[in-house]
Amino acid sequence: MDSWQSPIAPGISWYQATVGERPAYPALDGSKSVDVAIIGGGYTGLQAACNLAKAGVSVALIEANRFGDGASGRNGGQMGTGQRWWPEDLEKEIGYERSKALFDMAEDAKRYLLDFAETHGIDMDYMPGQMNVSHKPGHDRDYRANAEIAAERYGYPHIAFMDAQEAAERLGTKDYYCGVRDTGTGHIHPLKLLVGLARAAHAAGAHIHEMTKATAIRQAGGKTLVDTPAGTLTADRVLIATNAYIGDLEPKTAAHIMPIGSFIAATAPLDDFPHVIPGGEAVADSRFVVRYFRKSKDNRLLFGGREVYSSRDPRDTANAIRKQIVDTYPALRDVEITHAWGGNVGITMPRQPFVREVMPGVTSIGGYSGHGVMLSNYCGKLYADMVAGKATDLDHLASLKIPAFPGGRHMRTPLLFLALTWFALRDRL
Ligand SMILES: Cc1cc2nc3c(=O)[nH]c(=O)nc-3n(C[C@H](O)[C@H](O)[C@H](O)COP(=O)(O)OP(=O)(O)OC[C@H]3O[C@@H](n4cnc5c(N)ncnc54)[C@H](O)[C@@H]3O)c2cc1C
Repeated sequence: MDSWQSPIAPGISWYQATVGERPAYPALDGSKSVDVAIIGGGYTGLQAACNLAKAGVSVALIEANRFGDGASGRNGGQMGTGQRWWPEDLEKEIGYERSKALFDMAEDAKRYLLDFAETHGIDMDYMPGQMNVSHKPGHDRDYRANAEIAAERYGYPHIAFMDAQEAAERLGTKDYYCGVRDTGTGHIHPLKLLVGLARAAHAAGAHIHEMTKATAIRQAGGKTLVDTPAGTLTADRVLIATNAYIGDLEPKTAAHIMPIGSFIAATAPLDDFPHVIPGGEAVADSRFVVRYFRKSKDNRLLFGGREVYSSRDPRDTANAIRKQIVDTYPALRDVEITHAWGGNVGITMPRQPFVREVMPGVTSIGGYSGHGVMLSNYCGKLYADMVAGKATDLDHLASLKIPAFPGGRHMRTPLLFLALTWFALRDRL
């Protein structure tokens, strides 16, 4: 088993235990000149590197830790459909045309990801189905409308309404009042995808380096320079793909993308509890502090949620998530929790992705707000298309209004913490 502990996220995940071989890539050793330098080796950065290399562009990617140590190797694996917002809600903000364009883009992202995995022989344990469920009564009409609007206005006929009884049968808990079931999407083993993606980028000829942290980005002589302790990358263009882990590296990205801890626990296989999600779909509920859960290929429950606390001890994570599991599935009160881990989700104020040129030739992409499994892969690919001079759907994202978090550098984390605590309290009412 891979016992590597990510230095930036707590706990060793069940994904690590089951990913199989996870090759190590060398740290940068000396300076290099390339067409494109990429900072961050999650889905966004590695997809960009893979596609740029395939297009014959010279590209070097640096990752401060190991590939998959950020969100891409540790997430809930739910692909979802559309953007983070329901399209009918997005429509009220930006109008039907733009909302439809973003919905179609997400469908392209879904197809792209499944095709990419198939083309590169990546077995990412894909399992079909996803359910969104309401933890409060009185929303039947909204959920019914969601299915109808998807079919009639967005050309997506795969979502069906579930009343309380159907939701209870399909989830194996009476905790939810209604929901929708989407048979046009599914869920994956995120680290298997990430490891396969790094292999594909390397095979395509990208220079990819682990354990190499960018310490500064500067501009001189029409080029952008990315400093690391082991040398400097000099490039015509730079992609910042550090998402929630930006730290102090680049202030505009840091002002717009805020890290929020999210935690997952894996149970032992649930062979004695066939009533738990018998159809194997993934589930996300309507709480502001979303609970998201699913069965793994080997029949475990992978249950994710968030607690407003700061411990990095996996035992605390396991205890906190156990409470939520038992809340939802009382019969699992004594089930063993075998793994518990966490990671940072990168959120933006309006919960829509952040795509911006933050310095001449330096693009920052991230802030998928918990909806990045398919979007981050696709945005990395679209970035490569953009470098090749193609008009891409990245423009739809770049045109979204993403304000910075209020409060400036020192106040924004405490302010967000207060807001989240308030919303978490409201979830319990
Ligand atoms: C617990 C959890 C559950 C989630 N569940 C879901 C889900 O079910 N569905 C969904 O769609 N999305 C989910 N997400 C979100 C999704 O995982 C992300 O949107 C996506 O993985 C973002 O990929 P990325 O490549 O942009 O960032 P990341 O994967 O976070 O990669 C950024 C990388 O940049 C590196 N880095 C940072 N600073 C530097 C530096 N200075 N130099 C070099 N490298 C640096 C980091 O080490 C990191 O590896 C979840 C996230 C978490 C944490």
